[in-house]
Amino acid sequence: MDKKILLIYTGGTIGMVPTEAGYAPKAGYLQSFLESIPALSDPSMPKWELLELCPLLDSSNMTVLDWNRIGRIIEEHYDAFDGFVILHGTDTMAYTASALSFSLENLDKPVVITGSQIPLFEVRNDGLDNLLTSMLIAAEGRVHEVALCFSNKLMRGNRSVKTSATDLYAFSSPNYPALADIGTRILYNNMIPPRKVEGPFRVQELKKIPIGIIKVFPGIQFELFEEIMSESLKGIVLETFGAGNIPGTADAILPIVRKARENGTVLVICSQCLKGSVSLGTYETSAALKEAGAVCAYDMTTEAAVAKLYYLFSCGYDAETVKAKMEEDLVGELSK
Ligand code: ASP
Repeated sequence: MDKKILLIYTGGTIGMVPTEAGYAPKAGYLQSFLESIPALSDPSMPKWELLELCPLLDSSNMTVLDWNRIGRIIEEHYDAFDGFVILHGTDTMAYTASALSFSLENLDKPVVITGSQIPLFEVRNDGLDNLLTSMLIAAEGRVHEVALCFSNKLMRGNRSVKTSATDLYAFSSPNYPALADIGTRILYNNMIPPRKVEGPFRVQELKKIPIGIIKVFPGIQFELFEEIMSESLKGIVLETFGAGNIPGTADAILPIVRKARENGTVLVICSQCLKGSVSLGTYETSAALKEAGAVCAYDMTTEAAVAKLYYLFSCGYDAETVKAKMEEDLVGELSK
């Protein structure tokens, strides 16, 4: 195949080696390991080059600055390659996929993010299949967005969630159909319209915006969270029950709502349910949030909501504009 793809290894199980402290990534190891795999030099496969992040990271340690480093690599090599495969740890893969789906503006080439639950060096592993399939998808050029490929499913990156710490089938896309079903052939979903590209490709630098997540639970005392609602806090994602419901009387949430309003903090309402959508005002228990002008995340994942807050504030929008854009579908991350 005369297509050329860039593999970007960020760290993560797929390329890790055993150490006394457990699996850890090792600089330089993956290049020689991949060169020893005959399938990767088969004529049916695209040509590839590998770049590694320095330092390599367990994805639990990744921050917005690492998302920027990945973005810059893609930007620098955008014209020279047909597609990109990011080899990444599974723990925060859905966050990275979501963040890149926003920051890689006007993306017109495949960016496929993958990894594995068992490292490639183990005889029985899921990494080789994930890698080969991702490379083929990146070379075929049928997707023009950030997609997550894992265990024979191709998902929209900003719709994916890690749903198992141990199953090889580790990711799901509960609110959006698969971009492709991968069996004996790779069958792309033709019902999904291609994304609109409205200008030249560019990468929006993300900033370390102070944001937080609060997960509600029976008996939560909202007043305890008042202290963290400082002026510097730009956004809070509230993970609520079901369709956006919170426990307690309408007054219970007031300390948070009042502080958010005073400080210009954007309050985003997501659901703890993986499937379905937030619908504020359907129940009395979400009416206070609706009245307070909280942002409805609809069926957005928490990962996408967090990434979108980072992105919108990094673009320099004021709180009112961020609120409005949080409820808009920017890159396929939500449906109403
Ligand atoms: N802790 C690892 C990581 O996310 C887990 C994995 O790659 O599966 O980097």
